[in-house]
Amino acid sequence: MTTNLLRVPPPQELLQPLAVPERLLLGPGPSNVPPRILAAGGRQLLGHMHPEVLQVMDEIKVGIQYAFQTQNRLTLAISGTGHCAMEAALLNLLEHSDTVLVAVNGIWGQRAVDIARRLGADVHELLKPPGEYFTPRDIEEGLAQHKPSVLFITHGESSTGVLQPLEGLGKLCHRHGCLLLVDAVASLGGAPIFMDHQEIDVLYSGSQKVLNAPPGSAPISFSERAREKMLRRKTKPLSFYLDVAWLANYWGCDGEPRRYHHTAPINTFFSLREGLAMLSEMVSGTRQAAGHRHQELLPTITTVRVPEGYNWKEITAFLMDNHAIEIAGGLGPSAGKVLRIGLMGCNSTSSNVDRVLRALRDALSRCHRSRL
Ligand code: PMP
Repeated sequence: MTTNLLRVPPPQELLQPLAVPERLLLGPGPSNVPPRILAAGGRQLLGHMHPEVLQVMDEIKVGIQYAFQTQNRLTLAISGTGHCAMEAALLNLLEHSDTVLVAVNGIWGQRAVDIARRLGADVHELLKPPGEYFTPRDIEEGLAQHKPSVLFITHGESSTGVLQPLEGLGKLCHRHGCLLLVDAVASLGGAPIFMDHQEIDVLYSGSQKVLNAPPGSAPISFSERAREKMLRRKTKPLSFYLDVAWLANYWGCDGEPRRYHHTAPINTFFSLREGLAMLSEMVSGTRQAAGHRHQELLPTITTVRVPEGYNWKEITAFLMDNHAIEIAGGLGPSAGKVLRIGLMGCNSTSSNVDRVLRALRDALSRCHRSRL
C-alpha cells in the first residue's frame, strides 16, 4: 500500500498486545473452556474439504447423536451460535403462511415469535407467566385451537431458570399432526433429554454452555418427520447459508458426494469435537446428578431473586471487579429482578460453588443497601 495515501492511520490499540484477563464465567453462558478444548481450537488449520476435517465432522455428528440420544441421519452442527440454529430450524420447517404455535414463558419464545413472523408464518403465542412451565393440557388446548404444523418450546428457559418437562409432548404434537421443535441451548448436558424417545422432531443446542467450547457452532438434529416436511416444501428456504438441504450434503447426511457449501469454522469444529468427546466421557455422572434435582428447575442456571434493597448491577459489577467472577442479571421478563448463576460442564464444581457464594456474601456486606 502506498503509505502517503493512507488517510486512516494504523490503530494504536492494535499495536498493543491482546488483553484477555482470567475470569470465572458463572453467568448463563459462555462457560470457561478447559485446556483440552482450547488446545483443539488452537491447532493448525486444514482445508474445509480435507478428509481429516470431514472425519472430524463425522465425529461431531455421532457426538451430537449421543448427546441428543437420537439416531437421526440428519444431524449436524450449524456454523453459528444458538440463535443461528433457532433461525435454521424455523426457516427450514416453515413456509410463508404455515401456522406455528410458540410457547412463550420467557425471552426465547419471544425471539422465536420474532423470527417466525419475519418468515411470514402465521404465528400464534401460547402464553404462560415467566417462571412457569407448560402442562400437557396447556399444549393440547393450544394445538386443538390453532392447529399448527410446528410447536416451538424451550427446554431450559435461561431467562427465568425454568425447566420445561418434555415427557409426552412429542406424542401429543404428532396426534395433532404437528412437529415438535425444542430449544435446548441452555439445558443440553445438564438436564436429561432423549430426542427419539421423547419424539422431538427438531432439537438444537449451542457450543458455549455445558459443552464448554467457544461460541460459534450449534448442534442440531431433524427427525424423519421433519425431513419429510422439508422435502414437501413448495418454496426454497429463505436463507442459502442455512438451507438444510445444502448443509445435509456438506455434512454427509444425504448419501451424495460432499460439495462445498461454505468454509466451515474449522477450528471451532475442532473445539466442538472435543467438547462432545468430554461430554461422552462424563455424561452418565451428570445425568445421575441431574436426576436428583427439583424437576422444574434448570440445573445449569440457578436464578435467585435480587436481595431486597440491593441493586443487581452493583452486585454483578462487584463480583467482576473484586473476584473476577461473572454472574448475570435477569434477561427479558426477569430483567432487574434476578441474578443468574451458571454452573455448566467443567465449571460445575463444588469449589466454584463455594467461590461464588463467598463472593456473593462479600458483595452483600459491601454493596450499597437502600433503606427502602
Ligand atoms: N436459547 C437459549 C435457551 C439460550 O439460553 C440462548 C443463549 N443464552 C440462546 C437460545 C441463544 O444462543 P446464542 O447466544 O448462542 O445465540
